[in-house]
Amino acid sequence: MSELITGGCQCGAVRYALTQRPKAEFCHCRMCQRATGGVFGALATAPKADFSWTRGEPSFFESSTAAKRGFCARCGTPLTFAYNASASLDVTIGSLDDPEVAGPNQMHFAVESRVSWAPICDGAPQQRLDDYRDSPVHQPGYQSFQAPACGET
Ligand SMILES: [Zn+2]
Ligand SMILES: [Zn+2]
Repeated sequence: MSELITGGCQCGAVRYALTQRPKAEFCHCRMCQRATGGVFGALATAPKADFSWTRGEPSFFESSTAAKRGFCARCGTPLTFAYNASASLDVTIGSLDDPEVAGPNQMHFAVESRVSWAPICDGAPQQRLDDYRDSPVHQPGYQSFQAPACGET
């Protein structure tokens, strides 16, 4: 018997459900920082097959050629991140009805862009984006659609 994990946006227009507990992974990349408005993306991963939208229609931002980010167009809450070619997706941990279910954190990704005053001390493994060679970010034809910040190239 699988348990139902539920979540949704701040205004309630968009809701989702998972048939298994998603596993927490913190992503410190600049795209997740901007997309979530946090100092890192507090995400939790589950198979796409175990995820469904249960109320309303999410909107999607194509943050790169490789991935889309789902959000509520009414209130702006970031809800999902998924690589197009991946069998799994991430939900934002803060959008879960009970964020406790996502823990403990399994991994810190893209630690090279971690905010220096937000220390990592949970003991989870750390990985640099540059070292994750299988990432869609490193495949031919990849293009980011994120606006460059001042001083970024
Ligand atoms: Zn909403
Ligand atoms: Zn990221």
